[in-house]
Amino acid sequence: MRDIDHLIVGQSATASGRTGDVFDPNTGAVQARVALGTQADLDRAVAAAQKAQPGWAATNPQRRARVMFAFKALVEKNMEELAHLLSSEHGKVIADSKGDIQRGLEVIEFCCGIPHVLKGEYTQGAGPGIDVYSMRQPLGIGAGITPFNFPGMIPLWMSGVAIATGNAFILKPSERDPSVPVRLGELFLEAGLPEGILQVVHGDKEMVDAILDHPAISAVSFVGSSDIAHYVYRRGVAAGKRVQAMGGAKNHGIVMPDADLDQVVADLAGAAFGSAGERCMALPVAVPVGEKTAAALREKLIPAIENLRVGVSTDSDAHYGPVVTAIHKKRIEDWIQTGVDEGAELVVDGRGFELQGHEGGFFVGPTLFDHVTTGMSAYKEEIFGPVLQIVRADDFEHAVRLPSEHQYGNGVAIFTRNGHAAREFAARVNVGMVGINVPIPVPVAYHTVGGWKRSAFGDTNQHGMEGVKFWTKVKTVTQRWPDGGVGDTANAFVIPTMG
Ligand code: NAD
Repeated sequence: MRDIDHLIVGQSATASGRTGDVFDPNTGAVQARVALGTQADLDRAVAAAQKAQPGWAATNPQRRARVMFAFKALVEKNMEELAHLLSSEHGKVIADSKGDIQRGLEVIEFCCGIPHVLKGEYTQGAGPGIDVYSMRQPLGIGAGITPFNFPGMIPLWMSGVAIATGNAFILKPSERDPSVPVRLGELFLEAGLPEGILQVVHGDKEMVDAILDHPAISAVSFVGSSDIAHYVYRRGVAAGKRVQAMGGAKNHGIVMPDADLDQVVADLAGAAFGSAGERCMALPVAVPVGEKTAAALREKLIPAIENLRVGVSTDSDAHYGPVVTAIHKKRIEDWIQTGVDEGAELVVDGRGFELQGHEGGFFVGPTLFDHVTTGMSAYKEEIFGPVLQIVRADDFEHAVRLPSEHQYGNGVAIFTRNGHAAREFAARVNVGMVGINVPIPVPVAYHTVGGWKRSAFGDTNQHGMEGVKFWTKVKTVTQRWPDGGVGDTANAFVIPTMG
């Protein structure tokens, strides 16, 4: 049995003695125990961060960027090991695990250019002999609280930008798959990051609350489910912190009558069922426009879904693997029953799926519902499993309204060959990230990621320039340098005005 400890300067074992089980989702067995930390563990991490951060902030940005370059090379070198470790705790297939790490590395690539990004603004001659310039300075100590579903990418969304901009960062990863975040922390140290700049503390609500209340932590970045995101946002802001808190999702894929249906079906198979639907940018709702489109889509979807291969996470032919825990498997199956009870038509039922030789694994077969309607709770809530729901729309206007009026507003996609319809849709839909013939429109690292409505609390997105804005504060300097000549010191200081 492995024990997974914090990565805190100068100590490892947790003070509380409490631990959480980390499962192997392929077999259902407990494979490791993770320390569940306390305020005392966090205090130790904060003390180390306070000691290290001023020196790191004073390190010139080019040198900080060199650590990012070295870290990127190390992650690439260790990709196989990291991907297998990730799959073994999460359950996603190896190709998805590599994608998880790769999308995080792309944020690190952005951070390699941090000297350029931090250059600031300058106005010469804002008044007589007066210049104004601004600089972005680190906040001090920041913390990140991350979900189970991207244990590589999401810690790197936050830690990369926080560290590159000169902060110390304390990561509290999901207690369900904590090993990869720890390995990433170790690789950062190997890459030359000073001790105390990136630390990992494990835990559950007790540790999250300790972070939210800690007076020395200036900013908290959270990604997880919406109720917790809202709670983290409220409590962190009440403690005077800067908080960004990304929540859940229920992304719709609009299928226009002119769409290439073969392409749509291939895209939906990947976007609804890939990673067992445990993606915040999954597409669990298909919205065919018009009855003809709905009938044609359904006819093509059924065989495609029945052909999906569910396997262990190391099966390179598997389309997707097990879900993360037995509790989550039960939750998904309960939602399927709720859909049935609410009157949706269960076309393909993935409940009770067993993989031969892995009967204890947390597998859920692919599931398809048709005739789902907006009043059903199974439509309103996030299921976060391999379940695709068809909601039929009468026309384009109806299709724009569905995602726009949903409580979540993370991502949405439209499939069409009509540029005008796509353009109208992108402009009008009340959702934060839009894909046009792109099923999972997660923006690249130098743009930013973030949803609307109950998919995000706070006003700043993750990574890209929004991330830089979140992890820094602006200082604006107004300077005047009198020439020191006779009489000059008698001049009154004049505040520049627009006039
Ligand atoms: P979760 O909300 O259960 O957990 C997220 C984090 O919060 C974990 O670190 C966990 O330890 C902590 N936590 C759990 N319960 C808590 C409590 N009561 N009080 C304080 N902290 C608590 O989420 P999850 O199941 O790990 O991840 C899946 C969710 O994350 C989905 O809803 C998914 O849509 C969302 N997600 C959103 C995005 C996005 O960009 N919007 C990205 C990935 C995942």
